[in-house]
Amino acid sequence: MGWFLVISALVVIWIASLCKIFSSYSSGFLNDGTPQKRNILLVIAHPDDESMFFSPTINFLTSRGHKLHILCMSIGNADGMGTIRREELYKASTVLKVCRMVLAKCGIINCWQRLLNRKYQAVRLTCYGVSGHCNHRDVHNGVRVFLHNKAPQSFEAWELVSTNILRKYSGPVDIWLSILFSEAHTSGTTHCLINECPRQSFFAMAQHASQWVWFRKLFVTFSSYTFVNTLKRIN
Ligand SMILES: [Zn+2]
Repeated sequence: MGWFLVISALVVIWIASLCKIFSSYSSGFLNDGTPQKRNILLVIAHPDDESMFFSPTINFLTSRGHKLHILCMSIGNADGMGTIRREELYKASTVLKVCRMVLAKCGIINCWQRLLNRKYQAVRLTCYGVSGHCNHRDVHNGVRVFLHNKAPQSFEAWELVSTNILRKYSGPVDIWLSILFSEAHTSGTTHCLINECPRQSFFAMAQHASQWVWFRKLFVTFSSYTFVNTLKRIN
């Protein structure tokens, strides 16, 4: 009886959280009251990071008319599948309505310099602890060094806030804590972006056919990163 009540409560909370996702909650992220649309660069470590971790941010920005570009710092060639994974990344980008995809072949500093010349106004970062992968940490640290040494004053940089393991696997339920967390920061340095179309995360991740195995299907189903991203300004 006790277990039945616990499971029933979890199901009710899960459904209530999904209802909240499809309600009218909206963040004021990058909304300065003008119709100006931004050029935005999302920096990721591997093909599939965009679908597994950043789809709420991507959907939020593209649905509001911002031009999103992705810089992927590797082609995921660890198992000799670089060519396949690059194609999968292009397919996922199409699903996510990303304007342009850049794969880093030119060294991180040269890439930054080339991309900066295009006057990007904001950067998203893979964050230090999303999955604990060393490449995520390296990209995160590399971006911080770049910001310190090379980025112009006008450059806005934001990072994805990592959550603990309980929140990470709480699916849509985490939106309540994410909203509370962002609303506690009234200075505008933290924003909670809710994925208004979580199904798109599944479609995008399914384009990474070589990676679309059972445990990643479970991850996308139960990960809070499928439903919500909290972004924090870092410069
Ligand atoms: Zn990754």
